[in-house]
Amino acid sequence: MDLFQINQQDDRPIELTVKNYEYNTRKTNPFYVEVNKEMKYYAVCPACKNPIIIVNLYVDKTLDENKNKMPIHAKHCKYSVTNLAEYSQEAYDECPLGNPSKFGGSSKHRSKNKRNEIVTLIKYYPVVLYNEIRSITGIDFSENTFSSMISTFIKAEGYYYKYINKYNLPYGFLNMQKSIRIYNNKLYYSPFKSEMINSINNSEFFQYKNYKITPKLKDGFYEIELYLANHKIDSEYESETIDIIIVEKLNGKTNEVFNKTVKIDVEKYINTVDKQRRINGITEAIKLDDESFASKV
Ligand SMILES: [Zn+2]
Repeated sequence: MDLFQINQQDDRPIELTVKNYEYNTRKTNPFYVEVNKEMKYYAVCPACKNPIIIVNLYVDKTLDENKNKMPIHAKHCKYSVTNLAEYSQEAYDECPLGNPSKFGGSSKHRSKNKRNEIVTLIKYYPVVLYNEIRSITGIDFSENTFSSMISTFIKAEGYYYKYINKYNLPYGFLNMQKSIRIYNNKLYYSPFKSEMINSINNSEFFQYKNYKITPKLKDGFYEIELYLANHKIDSEYESETIDIIIVEKLNGKTNEVFNKTVKIDVEKYINTVDKQRRINGITEAIKLDDESFASKV
């Protein structure tokens, strides 16, 4: 995984970079530990509070036997680290970051706490979720589409889905939607926006014209949809990926228009919620009990 925390009390994940790790740990004990004349770098998993070890902290240019770059990442360790964290197998087994559930299906947990956590995030921070799902897919979903996605989620009791947690919520939310109609939608900013425009223009029935996904021909019942599939867990790097797929349809014929594998970012969403919470706190103290002021708004 590519996030960490330095104490067991804080759930907020910190993005794992050399700079963030050095700054937060101050390069001190119990994070920097010499074991048998070799430096080891430890931290805490923000989710399960078990110790994690940082791999390739100062060697991110190292190449493996296939000449692939070996990037910095963190992995759970199955032992306690003195003055940092006791290892708990039970917590590890339940950890959504170290031991994520495979996406798909609708198997459910029955934890009221987890349910309340997810429902609270959706109910009180809908803009963060709306922005995230647009940013992940590159599609500027309409408000109506978002509204029907929320209904689907609530009807299916998505907050009880085993594979959905507060870190991957936007991805889990999109994944459980099955296919989402994107006819006449605009595109949203994404790193693959121009690639997506090319794919749509090269499709059989659709084009990106006047900033909208529209059919090339006026006659016919063309359809274009997006869905997420092929969730993969890389246990070596403790990272996950998922494919964003667009298909077009006409009279029972289906063509794949676009297919992009993206890394699941488990840090951005929950940290954006946290930022929103802090910013909301700034205006909380404003009082509207002055009558003359209240009458103006
Ligand atoms: Zn964990």
